Amino acid sequence: MSNNVEQVERTFVAVKPDAVKRGLVGEITKRFEDAGFKICGMKMVQATDQLLEQHYEEHVDKPFYEGLADYMKEGPIVGMVLEGVHAAENIRKIVGDTSAKDAHPSTIRGQYGHMSMDYADEAGRLYKNLVHASEPGEQEREIEIWFEEKELHDYQTAHEEETR
Ligand code: UDP
Ligand code: MG
Repeated sequence: MSNNVEQVERTFVAVKPDAVKRGLVGEITKRFEDAGFKICGMKMVQATDQLLEQHYEEHVDKPFYEGLADYMKEGPIVGMVLEGVHAAENIRKIVGDTSAKDAHPSTIRGQYGHMSMDYADEAGRLYKNLVHASEPGEQEREIEIWFEEKELHDYQTAHEEETR
């Protein structure tokens, strides 16, 4: 990591298959770049059962897991590692509540969706919410699942460089 300040950390974000299919990779990435987060790694990946079982280890036994795994395998995801101050907490603030219905319209999930989990359940639909972002404390574990060390990059942003 290019900064020794303790609060500067890396976190994992996945642009989920519904957002990739809707052409929102750029818009979503822009939200994080606009807030000043540094992209340290980025790649398109087709999720597998093995990756998802590790990634969602806290949810793997829950009733919604099978639908969640089907959703996450519907198409490729775009994984990224972002660096910044309190990155995990701040990025989840930008992403918004899990349910689009409850997410503030200024958040990604609130801006690009309106579905409620209850409606999706009753309608027998998969619940899709565009983005995953690590919870604080989970980010290093998740980065290791999705990225190899050589795929993560240390560089100075224009803002960090002393001279340009
Ligand atoms: N999810 C779902 N049904 C539920 C709860 C969660 O389909 O009842 C999915 C949803 O895609 C969510 C993911 O599982 O983003 C992980 O759930 P979590 O509670 O960790 O929400 P997040 O951290 O993504 O906001
Ligand atoms: Mg979660």
